[in-house]
Amino acid sequence: MARIDALIKSGVVNKEGFYTLGGRLAIDFANSYKRVGREKEGLSNFDDLLIFMKSHSLLHEDEASDLHMFHFQNPGRCEKVVDTLVELRNSFRNVLMEVEQGWPVSLDFLEDINGRLAGFKSYHKVIPSAEGMELRTIIDENGPEKLMFPIIHDIADYLTSEHIEKTRACASDDCDLYFVNQSRNGRRRWCSMSTCGNRAKVNAYLKRQEA
Ligand SMILES: [Zn+2]
Repeated sequence: MARIDALIKSGVVNKEGFYTLGGRLAIDFANSYKRVGREKEGLSNFDDLLIFMKSHSLLHEDEASDLHMFHFQNPGRCEKVVDTLVELRNSFRNVLMEVEQGWPVSLDFLEDINGRLAGFKSYHKVIPSAEGMELRTIIDENGPEKLMFPIIHDIADYLTSEHIEKTRACASDDCDLYFVNQSRNGRRRWCSMSTCGNRAKVNAYLKRQEA
């Protein structure tokens, strides 16, 4: 437990063990296949997905309990959402691998994202907020499919942003985490200094001792 507490403190993971070092939702989602403190796939069932959404402040507690009830009545439809997202995440990870190596985003992936965006019924609404008024996109859907919207929307936004050129894979051989490199000198190499960066430093130190 001590280890996860330290990782939460340094912003590497949230209290549910999902990685938060990606720099934005789309990348944290890409990293969601792993979860600190768990051996299996990070999103292995509908409950995991609700926890992922809640821990990223994308879902209110009351909406989550409504969806939990929905899952009892209609498990198939909920599991389909999880399967769809995991499949999408795997193809998004491929895209990240390619863009990190300087390749353009595959047109198949773009078509997939556009098709999904076209499937959402949404409208705009002006809502009073702490800073006056805010224009928000509301999803006209109460079923589990609405969980996909913020994720797919942020992937779409990511594809059009400068973050795509700043995407890096952790330099550690046994780590597959991605992040947006926003370090001032552009030299960030590790997913985090608390994990891979530190290990690399220790290994380099031991090597020097051997020499
Ligand atoms: Zn790493």
